Amino acid sequence: MPIPNSVEARDIAFHLHPATNAKKHLEAGPLVIERGEGIHVFDASGRKYIEALAGLWCAGLGFSDDRVADAVYKQMKTLPYYHTFAHRSHGPVVDLAEKLIAMAPVPMSKVFFTNSGSEAVDTVMKLVWYRSNAMGQPEKKKFIARERAFHGLTAAASCLTGLPGNHRGFDLVFDGVLRVTAPDHYRNALPGESESAFATRLAEELEALILAEGPETIAAFIGEPVMGGGGVIVPPMDYWPKMQAVLRKYDILTIADEVICGFGRTGTMFGSTTLGIEPDIMTLSKQLSSAYLPISAVMVNEKTVAPIIEQSGDLGILGHGFTASGHPVAAAAAVEVLRIIEEDKLVENAARSGAHLRAGLAKLADHPLVGNVRGVGLIAAVELVLDKETKTAIPGQPGALGVLVNTRLQELGVLTRAMVDTVGFSPPLIITIAEVDALLELFTQALDDVAASLAATLEPA
Ligand code: PMP
Repeated sequence: MPIPNSVEARDIAFHLHPATNAKKHLEAGPLVIERGEGIHVFDASGRKYIEALAGLWCAGLGFSDDRVADAVYKQMKTLPYYHTFAHRSHGPVVDLAEKLIAMAPVPMSKVFFTNSGSEAVDTVMKLVWYRSNAMGQPEKKKFIARERAFHGLTAAASCLTGLPGNHRGFDLVFDGVLRVTAPDHYRNALPGESESAFATRLAEELEALILAEGPETIAAFIGEPVMGGGGVIVPPMDYWPKMQAVLRKYDILTIADEVICGFGRTGTMFGSTTLGIEPDIMTLSKQLSSAYLPISAVMVNEKTVAPIIEQSGDLGILGHGFTASGHPVAAAAAVEVLRIIEEDKLVENAARSGAHLRAGLAKLADHPLVGNVRGVGLIAAVELVLDKETKTAIPGQPGALGVLVNTRLQELGVLTRAMVDTVGFSPPLIITIAEVDALLELFTQALDDVAASLAATLEPA
């Protein structure tokens, strides 16, 4: 029982948490994090943890970057808030828009600012619908998304998300959302199917769906270059080019949801570059400001935005946006973060440390609990199983093995996330080789400890 009036007790009393078992929380209470330093965070009792997921795939610069703090303080003192509705603007939002256009992996034309990944995705949906109407194609409204996708949890973005746990209980309205198979070779390939043949089959599945629905009814395809929340799914390297060939054939826009992959996570600046995507639209967030302040962005190419601009002239307004769109303090933070990522060569560091992390995890492939090791750049995952043949974890209890390993990791001083039975790794971009070694050592120990305790419970009495 938490001490009366403690942070824990007051959290239980007053705070309804996102993505949490709210009933269980009344008993379990929170893990209260008090401060951060580099790749580490410290709880209220002073215990130190490696943040192996950078929070929620977020804090690229780690948890204590003074340059960003200084930039934020300076902007707070100069102009702490202003809006960007009705032709208003300010320096930081323009600096950031210009910088993002300059960095884009393919030619992009305009940036629209939002405050979360979900808001960015909702914004994309509205812009795409608006565009189809502008082009005199009001029937061209459907979106194709993938099973196990994560695109956010607002009412519209939730429908593009393909995780049942985020759908149950809400009666979401899925009109106009079509679903295709996730490019998870480990789970979804046919016996003996090569990665390339698997990618070809998924592109064929996409084309069949488009033809069955009517190509003229489909506006856009959305995908994370590397799927994050669905369990770190790295598609075959020729998957995206094959999918895009189909999308282009039927004049369907490609949306790269770069909310996790953006700004170095996959070992190059954008997931689109790593995976060979030429997006029409990109969503960006998280590492954009190292998540020190909420900010997100939608980048659109000329082909996408030109009809939207025209239509707004006819209608008198592009009637979409948010009070804090392009918030000056968040924008100033983002500009400084992007400067640091470039000056400190953090993308190169992510590629180097990521290769070391993935090589270390690959050595665990023979461990009795390891079914699959995957990753690219500085994003990786280990899928846990008890039976490697059937690829099953604890029978009838999906996620239970993930919880065991995740809980043991926390006891050992590592915070991460188990997505069902897949443990994810997405540490801050600043992580050093020595820190990766420390993480690998603790993960190996957690696997060994859980394997030993499972063996003990399964032993005949
Ligand atoms: N898109 C992707 C790819 C994400 O990973 C996330 C969040 N994990 C979102 C969108 C939604 O972002 P937010 O939680 O900021 O709304």
